[in-house]
Amino acid sequence: MILLNPGPVNLSERVRAALAGPDLCHREPEFADLQGRVIEALTAVYELPQNDWRAVLVSGSGTAAVEAMIASLVPREAHLVTLENGVYGERLTTIARAHGIAVTPLTTGWDSAIDESALADILKAQTGPTWVAAIHHETTTGRLNDLAAIGEICRHYHAPLLVDGVSSFGAERLAFSDWNIAACAATANKCLHGAPGMAFVIVREKLLASSAGRSVYLDLGGHARAQAAASTAFTPAIPALYALDAALAELEEEGGWQARHEHYHLLAEKLRGGLADLNISPWLAEENSSVVLRSYNLPSGFTYEQLHDQLKQRGFVIYAGQAGLVHELFRLSTMGAIEVADIERLLSAFAEILH
Ligand SMILES: *Cc1c(COP(=O)(O)O)cnc(C)c1O
Repeated sequence: MILLNPGPVNLSERVRAALAGPDLCHREPEFADLQGRVIEALTAVYELPQNDWRAVLVSGSGTAAVEAMIASLVPREAHLVTLENGVYGERLTTIARAHGIAVTPLTTGWDSAIDESALADILKAQTGPTWVAAIHHETTTGRLNDLAAIGEICRHYHAPLLVDGVSSFGAERLAFSDWNIAACAATANKCLHGAPGMAFVIVREKLLASSAGRSVYLDLGGHARAQAAASTAFTPAIPALYALDAALAELEEEGGWQARHEHYHLLAEKLRGGLADLNISPWLAEENSSVVLRSYNLPSGFTYEQLHDQLKQRGFVIYAGQAGLVHELFRLSTMGAIEVADIERLLSAFAEILH
């Protein structure tokens, strides 16, 4: 089955085999070696200097890393502005509220870019320390938010920027320093091609010294201190860590995030061209879209369920629109171990169903 949903992804044989690694106690040196290697490889993906940046592992899904980042790093006395143009942006607000953080959501429609001048206005009027949280790739629609512009505004008003890079880390450009990023949360099982169960936050080392102390399990500083001492705070998802170790080695050997970006771009464009021949048009303009996932208008005469079920019979899992968008669009993600030949077979399946 080829998975065109945005994670969990199709695994390579090497990553799948790694999942069945030896039984291991997390208090033994073999575990410390594995964990240390993964932490180093994660900061190396975007060539971040090890003395300024730290990758902190959190066993859990991507949301666990996003929640750990927000709950641990936003100081008690600070205000958080959340940028919403999809489900995941809205989740930032939900997380902040759950932890009692004073939050101002800046909402635009799911079909719109973040309103940068409104963000500047909010930050200009701030009366105390203000942080900003943003989604890089809003998986709801496939939009790549303009973090360069958002980061520039944050820098101007001295607002640290927290990034949900869950569906972009490993395949899209992330300029940590240029974009004024304070921390970025991501996961093993999207663009890094690992298995579900392991997530992480890449954070500026100096921010780890103080923690807002809002959570026990999701305390980033606690995880970081334990991991710096070659240990772990809690029982880690060891099979997922084996898989992530293999996936990061594979990414590096294939040419890093840039090569993965190129590969996704090739697949996404092949798909767009082939679907255009079948009169299926993109829901979002190409210049606003990621290479990771694209949303398409549902072909006329088909409900999402009909399209999904007929493609599944042919070996492909597609992904629905969220909330009201289920009647309007469907989504195709090309993350995971997917090749050009798979896309060609997918296009043939579409042609068969539509004719
Ligand atoms: C998938 C996704 C998440 C949530 O990840 P889970 O692993 O399902 O918790 C968060 N943010 C974005 C942008 C995502 O695409």
